[in-house]
Amino acid sequence: NREWHLVSRPVGRPEPEDFALVETEVPVPAEGQVLVRNRYLSVDPYMRGRMSAAKSYVAPFELGRVMQGGAVGEVVASKAEGFAPGDHVLHFFGWREYAVLDARHAVPVDADAAPLSTYLGVLGMTGLTAYAGLLRVAALREGDTVFVSGAAGAVGGQAGQIARLKGASRVVGSAGSDAKVRLLLDEYGFDAAFNYKDAPVAEQLRAAAPDGVDVYFDNVGGDHLEAAIGRLNRGGRIAVCGMISVYNATEPAPGPRNLARLIQTRGRIEGFLVGDHEDLRPRFAEEVGAWVRSGELKYRETVVEGVENTLDAFLGVLRGDNTGKMVVAV
Ligand code: NDP
Repeated sequence: NREWHLVSRPVGRPEPEDFALVETEVPVPAEGQVLVRNRYLSVDPYMRGRMSAAKSYVAPFELGRVMQGGAVGEVVASKAEGFAPGDHVLHFFGWREYAVLDARHAVPVDADAAPLSTYLGVLGMTGLTAYAGLLRVAALREGDTVFVSGAAGAVGGQAGQIARLKGASRVVGSAGSDAKVRLLLDEYGFDAAFNYKDAPVAEQLRAAAPDGVDVYFDNVGGDHLEAAIGRLNRGGRIAVCGMISVYNATEPAPGPRNLARLIQTRGRIEGFLVGDHEDLRPRFAEEVGAWVRSGELKYRETVVEGVENTLDAFLGVLRGDNTGKMVVAV
């Protein structure tokens, strides 16, 4: 078994020296446990937060210990009622090839109903984030103009498409390459999209959303957030999902300079965590599952092969190497 340990806490951008790939014995399940051979590991931006010691909504990773994260795999040995070898499960013991875990932490998934990797992405955590953030937190209404940043990523690509499917009148996205912009326009059905590296976001957003923005789904923070506040329409809502532009910052990031616009617009900014919206999961699974099966909602995955490349896959998410959900096939 190979597993990834955090050996020192990164300051700024994480470096390979902060991590170690460690060889261990394949663990043996005790009573009530299952042994899972992981097939797909999830790497996600929020993991950067767990590498720091700062208190947050999830505990920091422990130094010298295996890291955690979403994973799907196959049960290879079971000492738990209800689980048998060959079953597929979703769980939280990623960053390793083999995981032993209490059966109550294993969620069965149907490998025949959908590709295993999708339970980490379009039908999993990032999918529910898009769904809950857009429909509940931002309270999307028919006819809204919606702006999504990080729009070629896992959450953003799905948020923009759900907006379209739920009757938004205009969906605008930003992403960090021309190829990603083309994907948004040609495949995901965005009405307008721009490469935020080409020119100031505020300028590009003004051109892309001439009648303003009713909903901004923020994955990025920084200039993007300020630009969205600057274009916010009366009664506009901003769902703060993530702020990836500041995850490696070593100093507090400057705040938006135009918050006073919230008074004029009676605007609302609200942060959220997907974990607080588990009650939406059945509706999400039904509605999004149907859109994925019918092809109305498209998704991409970037698949990196090999447990030894998990760290590079994670660093790649922070660099923008991925289109859609980044997963590691192990
Ligand atoms: P993505 O698939 O969107 O991958 C991250 C993307 O961020 C990269 O591909 C890159 O794309 C973009 N990016 C990196 N640096 C910058 C930067 N400085 N400015 C603008 N874009 C940048 O990841 P996820 O879909 O998993 O997550 C998206 C966001 O949602 C993250 O902020 C994450 O933390 C947050 N999140 C929040 C949850 C919650 O419960 N609140 C749950 C899940 C995710 P590009 O090439 O376009 O730059």
